[in-house]
Amino acid sequence: NAASKQPPLPSPLRFSKFFQSNMRILVTGGAGFIGSHLVDRLMENEKNEVIVADNYFTGSKDNLKKWIGHPRFELIRHDVTEPLLIEVDQIYHLACPASPIFYKYNPVKTIKTNVIGTLNMLGLAKRVGARILLTSTSEVYGDPLVHPQPESYWGNVNPIGVRSCYDEGKRVAETLMFDYHRQHGLEIRIARIFNTYGPRMNIDDGRVVSNFIAQALRGESLTVQSPGTQTRSFCYVSDLVDGLILLMGGSDTGPINLGNPGEFTMLELAETVKELINPEVEIKIVENTPDDPRQRKPDITKAKELLGWEPQVKLREGLPLMEQDFRFRLGVGKKI
Ligand code: NAD
Ligand code: UDP
Ligand code: UDP
Repeated sequence: NAASKQPPLPSPLRFSKFFQSNMRILVTGGAGFIGSHLVDRLMENEKNEVIVADNYFTGSKDNLKKWIGHPRFELIRHDVTEPLLIEVDQIYHLACPASPIFYKYNPVKTIKTNVIGTLNMLGLAKRVGARILLTSTSEVYGDPLVHPQPESYWGNVNPIGVRSCYDEGKRVAETLMFDYHRQHGLEIRIARIFNTYGPRMNIDDGRVVSNFIAQALRGESLTVQSPGTQTRSFCYVSDLVDGLILLMGGSDTGPINLGNPGEFTMLELAETVKELINPEVEIKIVENTPDDPRQRKPDITKAKELLGWEPQVKLREGLPLMEQDFRFRLGVGKKI
């Protein structure tokens, strides 16, 4: 018959030699701050195809505009609390609002994103045999009683507080990752990220570095939440992205702390921003929010030993890079 005279349909296997070293990578939350920098780095490798799934709650297409239309790039409007059926080799699972203002805005949605969203991405990883990396957080240590925090510390977290949707949500996400690893043999990686800053942070996102830079550029007082002696350690985003890629490519499941061990009080941070950006502005102490951790500094011994990773960009070098981006977006002065 006629059909038997047709040439055989091309089988995907016939092309497997050609494609074998290509890697199809899903980045959930890829339209956000860290995710879009990660996408930039992954797209630099011509062997990578990158798919971003994002619901644009705190992210935006603008962060990815240089890749839209690129043949190795695909952007899907998708909420990770719904199942996702695609074929990929690796999953970087970042989807989750990271700023306290946004994750407290709809706490039930935040915990669903952490729990159901992570479950769905694990189900996807299991079905297609993909390696999956979760971006967990230093918030799993809560208000830590051990300082600096090593990965072996179990944390001091309020289970019923206003931050719990985020920090307990991430703790459950970590549990799910390890249960899928033990029960189904999934290849997992967990990064515990400490405060990260850099270009493309939402200008009004409420986190301290973006607040201070925007305030300094607008000539407003820098709002240090009391007492101002609480500490954080700030990692520049390019360093963080290096750490995520090394962790994904390495052989250790983690959890591994990724952060910059340089520790500053919020008053010191305000003084540094004032000095570097606008010496005219005042620093004022304002009321704090509940359950604010008093200190936070990563112990990065494990990342150094297992990944050969440590941050390169100092706070005084990273702040001016972020200032340029904020000046441009706020329309204050020219981008250099
Ligand atoms: P971000 O808010 O800029 O990015 C989060 C992205 O996830 C956004 O694009 C948002 O639209 C998307 N998203 C949120 N809920 C979603 C859902 N239900 N479905 C699909 N997409 C969803 O935050 P970020 O700073 O880039 O953080 C990225 C990840 O890193 C988060 O998992 C966060 O918990 C983690 N992390 C960040 C920091 C930090 O300092 N920035 C610190 C620790 C951990
Ligand atoms: N899932 C998904 N994409 C897939 C496979 C699974 O989103 O490709 C979701 C699925 O809807 C389920 C979750 O992942 O809610 C967990 O899947 P798993 O197969 O581990 O568990 P089960 O479906 O048996 O509950
Ligand atoms: N903070 C501040 N002024 C601000 C915003 C935040 O002093 O305008 C403080 C806040 O009280 C906390 C620290 O900065 O001690 C870091 O807060 P952020 O929301 O950036 O991150 P997280 O609490 O998640 O570490």
